[in-house]
Amino acid sequence: TDEILRVTDLSTRYFTQEGQVNAVSSLDLRIERGEVFGIVGESGSGKSVTARSIMNLIESPGEITGGSVEYRNAEFAEAVVDDYPDAVDGEFVDLLEVPSRVRQSLRGTSFSMIFQDPESSFNPTITVGEQLAEAVEVQRRASARPRSTRARTDDYSLGEYLLSTVLSSRRYVSEESRERAIELLELVGIPDPVERADEYPHEYSGGMLQRAMIAQALAGEPDVLVADEPTTALDVTIQAQILDLLDELQEETGMTILLITHNLGVIARMCDRVGVMYAGEIVERGTLEDIFDDQVHPYTEGLLGSVPDLDGAGGRLQPIPGNVPSLLDHEMGDRCHFADRCPKAMEDCLEHPPEYPADGSDHHAARCVLAETEYDDARALPDDYFDGTD
Ligand code: SF4
Ligand code: MG
Repeated sequence: TDEILRVTDLSTRYFTQEGQVNAVSSLDLRIERGEVFGIVGESGSGKSVTARSIMNLIESPGEITGGSVEYRNAEFAEAVVDDYPDAVDGEFVDLLEVPSRVRQSLRGTSFSMIFQDPESSFNPTITVGEQLAEAVEVQRRASARPRSTRARTDDYSLGEYLLSTVLSSRRYVSEESRERAIELLELVGIPDPVERADEYPHEYSGGMLQRAMIAQALAGEPDVLVADEPTTALDVTIQAQILDLLDELQEETGMTILLITHNLGVIARMCDRVGVMYAGEIVERGTLEDIFDDQVHPYTEGLLGSVPDLDGAGGRLQPIPGNVPSLLDHEMGDRCHFADRCPKAMEDCLEHPPEYPADGSDHHAARCVLAETEYDDARALPDDYFDGTD
């Protein structure tokens, strides 16, 4: 295997007036270089928080409270090992163990993220071309200087970092970067890129701005692209075009994509492997075939209930009776997070959280007692268990 990203036991909490919310609990992911890995789940399942945690974009009142996000890059590991020996394991660097200033040297060049809402990626007062040229400049500066790992000042906040890139844009943009920006617009299928480069974000349609955001994300030739619901806001035709574009770019560049979506059709079309997320946990992971045709977890079964098979997958997630559980720490307890809605729940499920293999294997696995014990050994629930739930 050629793992590029190794997320281990990652937990992200939000501290609210009602108490601690366990938005992401003990999450494990192993992502291979060049694959498209999908995370699918209902809204509120923790998909976006997972993406933002991996990118280290969690802001107060949220906090990453444990785990590691290890990125494999031999050159980066070598550059940081002297200053942060504990962060380095062979060619892997735990991005949570280095200061944000060091992490930021990776942003855009090794890691990029695209969001559902492209407006958030652009400054409305600067032309699209200038902003892309700036992204190109950031990449050039990052690869030109040796990576400085020791923090010279306090860590930048993301806001300060973004502000500094905006403020510096006019000073640094060269003709060469502008040409590259136009090439990028062309690459993502923007017609008349020379003219469109001089337009402002509001002059672009939603689909065009989405393409421009992808161009911006690709400016630094990232190893890993994290895409959070990249097509959700678009109509179906444009959505299909953007997915085709991502597919093509992935094949051309060999980049790794972590694709977050609630749409099973998008998963079926794009992904090599899938993690199904529920209530802050990945409850099942496997290849597309494992998940669509051979699922083990009752939640996955519920989601895919009326999707006949992989070829017929195009639908939205199926509604499952009952409510998503509270993620408030004091209300969660040790039970399986799906127990209140699970048609196969047993007494065991209420007493201990089901185990999930965290051994780094990429095998098909499910966080469910059905996958870990003999079904025969499990005790049936009392008859009235589902009374009062629906
Ligand atoms: Fe259902 Fe029990 Fe499996 Fe949870 S552990 S999904 S309650 S069978
Ligand atoms: Mg989301």
